[in-house]
Amino acid sequence: MSAWEENVRRVTPYTPGEQPAWTDVIKLNTNENPYPPAPGVLRALSAVDGDSLRRYPDPAASALVNALADHCHVSPEQVFVGVGSDDVLAMAFMTFFNSGKPILFPDVTYSFYPVWAEEFRIPYRKTALDADFRIRKEDYREENGGVVFPNPNAPTGVAMELSEVEDIVRSNRDVVVIVDEAYVDFGAQSALPLVEKYDNLLVVQTFSKSRSLAGMRIGFAVGSPALIRYLNDVKYSFNSYTMSQAALACGTESVKDAAYFEETVGKIIETRERAKETLAEMGFSFPDSKANFLFITHPRFRAKELFEALRENRIYVRYFAQPRIDDYLRVTIGTDGQMEALYGFLRDWMARSAG
Ligand code: PMP
Repeated sequence: MSAWEENVRRVTPYTPGEQPAWTDVIKLNTNENPYPPAPGVLRALSAVDGDSLRRYPDPAASALVNALADHCHVSPEQVFVGVGSDDVLAMAFMTFFNSGKPILFPDVTYSFYPVWAEEFRIPYRKTALDADFRIRKEDYREENGGVVFPNPNAPTGVAMELSEVEDIVRSNRDVVVIVDEAYVDFGAQSALPLVEKYDNLLVVQTFSKSRSLAGMRIGFAVGSPALIRYLNDVKYSFNSYTMSQAALACGTESVKDAAYFEETVGKIIETRERAKETLAEMGFSFPDSKANFLFITHPRFRAKELFEALRENRIYVRYFAQPRIDDYLRVTIGTDGQMEALYGFLRDWMARSAG
């Protein structure tokens, strides 16, 4: 090993879901939205001209921040934007989790949390979900350096009641509590109304799922003006121009089209509810999901085997070789046509495998 290597910040990176090079795949593996973004978004993108690209973007991202403040009924001083919610969450970990005490998050959750914790040298403790994959609010009452959890949780899709989220925030007034609402638009209750009441609550959301803009990388956080000020101080000490001109234009336009947003989210929810019935008829079980994915398991077929068979047939879903969940598949809700193709393959494969 070279001498310089002894001083490298070593990290075990997060493994993102596969982005296959083929286009003729049914891609239900990264919780993308199967529908295109609002029509105005593409118009805004084509209006980005050479002159606007020649210049640096607005470092304060004011157009997007103001649109989001309106949309969330808060003041612009309560909104922070970043390059996807991964960027916002990473920034929040760096900014708020510095006490030296362990932060708390569920044992089955977004697998980026332990990666950021390791990267920023933040000690952490995982609290076990109950047997039904529910977050137990009682587990968040011990002394800690901060709390983070998704609502709905990933990859389970299980949502908490707002009163339970509030319980966790209320019992942790001395630390920052981050609620990661990447999937909240698909049917869970947002904690946004609580930010006026609790200055230690940071709510993080994304344009990647319900707004069909995963490729544009837009995420945001809403919290008390003090939290947002601290986040901005860290951002400006890192990279002032996180959001591109194109992302600012697309994001601002997306927020304006409430009707399109509701229509698309509504279609996905309907497809999800039908998927619950169809998959249950096939013998799958799953926790009740309020997200744009289902976390399914089957008593007779091993998830890994099914994952590989699906993949060979160019249907991509997500498999996690992790304790407690290594017999589950996370299936993103696609269009009705994509879901029918999935059911067709599953029926054939299960009939063949059983025979
Ligand atoms: N939080 C959770 C729980 C997620 O599943 C994801 C998607 N991988 C993210 C945050 C980050 O999404 P993005 O960076 O695209 O906003």
